[in-house]
Amino acid sequence: MDHAHAPHNDIVYPAAVPFVLVHVACLAAIWTGVSLEALVAAFVLYLVRMWAITGVYHRYFSHRSYKTSRVFQFFLAFLGQTSAQRGVIWWSAVHRHHHLYSDLPEDVHSPRHHGFWYSHMGWIFNPKNWEPDYGTVKDLTKYRELVILDRFTYTPAVILGFAMWFWGGWTMLVVGFFWSTMVLYHCTFFINSLAHELGSQRYLTGDDSRNNFWLALITLGEGWHNNHHHYQSSVRQGFKWWEVDITYYILKVMSWTGLVWDLRAPPEAIVRGDRPVGRKIVEKVASELAGSFSVERYALRVRDAWAESHTVDDLADLAKRARGQVEARLAELSLSHLPTVPELRDKAEEMFNESPSLDAIVYRAHELLAMAVAAHVCDLALDTR
Ligand SMILES: [Zn+2]
Ligand SMILES: [Zn+2]
Repeated sequence: MDHAHAPHNDIVYPAAVPFVLVHVACLAAIWTGVSLEALVAAFVLYLVRMWAITGVYHRYFSHRSYKTSRVFQFFLAFLGQTSAQRGVIWWSAVHRHHHLYSDLPEDVHSPRHHGFWYSHMGWIFNPKNWEPDYGTVKDLTKYRELVILDRFTYTPAVILGFAMWFWGGWTMLVVGFFWSTMVLYHCTFFINSLAHELGSQRYLTGDDSRNNFWLALITLGEGWHNNHHHYQSSVRQGFKWWEVDITYYILKVMSWTGLVWDLRAPPEAIVRGDRPVGRKIVEKVASELAGSFSVERYALRVRDAWAESHTVDDLADLAKRARGQVEARLAELSLSHLPTVPELRDKAEEMFNESPSLDAIVYRAHELLAMAVAAHVCDLALDTR
């Protein structure tokens, strides 16, 4: 596509003004100075609002992993919006989109497709991502008060900033509020960037999500991102006792007071990883596996094998008449020239985590590869004619 005619992919700066402004405002510490009191306030504000992002925006609104009252839900949403990470409904819609397409080209913040910096923060400058699909968040838009709050995108953050200034003057505003907001941005965004690049993968999730102890520590539990992609509706992201998940501990304590309830735990079979994965993941991983083989190479092999008993013209005629039929026929014929199922299995074991679905993935990849090779043989036949 002509890039000049693709305005939706252009980077436009005005809409990212609040994000840029927070960074610029941090520099004002040169004039206001830094006090211990303001640093402590920044630390506390970071912790409280990181909890609101992970425990509220993410685990409650995006994934509905526990329940609470309508009044407390509004209070939590307001608290989340003091983080200046846009409205609660907007955030949830963007996040649900991430899970629907994680690490596919449609994923707005996938380091695999867009690189580290774009997945970390570049994507928020792209107007294409400002209007996510609100059809995926109908369970949230049914609450009028949340819709209104979502529209007053930065009001809670401005109120908090003003309160900090009123309480402790310019140093408190700059260091207490702006510094903590800036650090909160980047630590949240590490989950989109680093948690899809650095760490280990326990489960086959069909994406690049990782478990990372250090990220879990600074994000109060979000670093167990591979666990989370494996089972999104769990309130707990640390699945093992040693997987520190402070957000969950706080929610657990809150549940004893009755403020929140119905905390959803991951089923044992899910934690053990011995339940087959869904069809969508099988399809995703199978096409990645099939894509790791050279279609051209196998197509040439199949074409040569065909040429021993037929002329290439036969093939081209067939291809012209019924491309679909010839593809199906070639798919059968080409089986003996393709990598075998055990070969695909070996490759799959190299590429992905162990999963009870690996056989299903291997068979599907074999089919996909056969179809791709068959289609390519048709192209070769038509080219040589
Ligand atoms: Zn993710
Ligand atoms: Zn999520």
